[in-house]
Amino acid sequence: MQGRKVYLDHSATTQLGKEAYDAMKPFMEDVFGNASSIHSYGQEAKKHLENSRENFAKLLNAESPEEIIFTGSGTESDNLALKGAAFANRDKGNHIITSSIEHHAVLNTCQYLEKQGFEVTYVPVDGNGTVNPQDVRKAIKKETILVSIMHANNEVGTIQPIKEIARIISAENQTRFTGAFGGIYFHTDAVQTAGKLPVDVQELGVDLMSLSAHKFYGPKGVGALYRRSGTRIQPIIHGGHHERNLRAGTENIAGISGMVKALETSMSGMEKEQKRLSALKEKLEKGILEKIPYTSVNGASAKRIAGISNILFQFIEGESLVVSLDMRGIACSTGSACASGSTEPSHVLKAMCVDPALAQGAIRFSLGKANSEKDIDYVLKVLPDIVAKLREISPLWKTKRQ
Ligand code: PLP
Repeated sequence: MQGRKVYLDHSATTQLGKEAYDAMKPFMEDVFGNASSIHSYGQEAKKHLENSRENFAKLLNAESPEEIIFTGSGTESDNLALKGAAFANRDKGNHIITSSIEHHAVLNTCQYLEKQGFEVTYVPVDGNGTVNPQDVRKAIKKETILVSIMHANNEVGTIQPIKEIARIISAENQTRFTGAFGGIYFHTDAVQTAGKLPVDVQELGVDLMSLSAHKFYGPKGVGALYRRSGTRIQPIIHGGHHERNLRAGTENIAGISGMVKALETSMSGMEKEQKRLSALKEKLEKGILEKIPYTSVNGASAKRIAGISNILFQFIEGESLVVSLDMRGIACSTGSACASGSTEPSHVLKAMCVDPALAQGAIRFSLGKANSEKDIDYVLKVLPDIVAKLREISPLWKTKRQ
């Protein structure tokens, strides 16, 4: 097993899949036109772009391809959904509801909107990292224009009750005079679930949904926002008339083609792959809890996506554990990649009321296509020793033993 490399950070990003790579190639070689050009090069590119939009819309069960806006990332999709809906509906109200465990792409956008005069309610989660739909219901007021709750959390993997929340919003909207543009809009950040769980927009009952290609074996720098017809948003990037005036900038046709192919590929083998990952995750968690004392699984009894396991190793620093594991060829992370490097305890674990001192010892293992049982065996072989050594030099462990 010497020299083994084990990638357990699929929630940070995934390797580009072969199918997606093949789908991108023609657009990096021969079909290079600008989809806005009127000559044949442009028209060829445009045809492929609209083909991709149609296929992507079908994968999400959208009613029309026009409901798909291609963007540059999951972060941009979240920004467009939140700022776009907030600014476009200011005449209806200024109140937004979100949760305390959202990705920073949503949380920091909400903080920005607060500075612009919007009021944001951050609903709590329970100890397992799940939002209670009744808390969303209670937070709704007549000024509420938007609710944004993630489909599954990127640090602990907890799946949120999106359908129940959608039903609550829909019932509230029936009591309002909604005019031409609907009442409260419902956005979900599905960046961690696309390709892992069904993301059928009719089933979920959402008006806006963010996706990001590099989380499901597609290329980096491409994302999408689903926008139900009639949902009033305004652009956040100004320029040309691309994407029906909602996202200016020449379309990345290679990236978009790769994203569509990657989602199609992930969705086609989804159930089988999620079952496989679930079994690997169980083996990993069981093995760690059995072999290493003072460990626990964050969000253990919640509904979680198959690939994410967030483990608390008491009396050590998560960062040191990540570095030590890396030296043995194992890649994982402390919480979200965007927040790593920060000395602040994870806002997600904080919201779950995990003791902040203990939360420093949390590690996220995220499994994916690249992993096999042998990888888990290897982790379970090297991890106990690494943890024991780190505890020996940890002041937290010394204090505990005194
Ligand atoms: N939302 C969630 C839940 C995420 O996990 C991430 C990335 O980790 C993002 C948004 C941001 O996506 P991107 O990296 O495409 O900007």
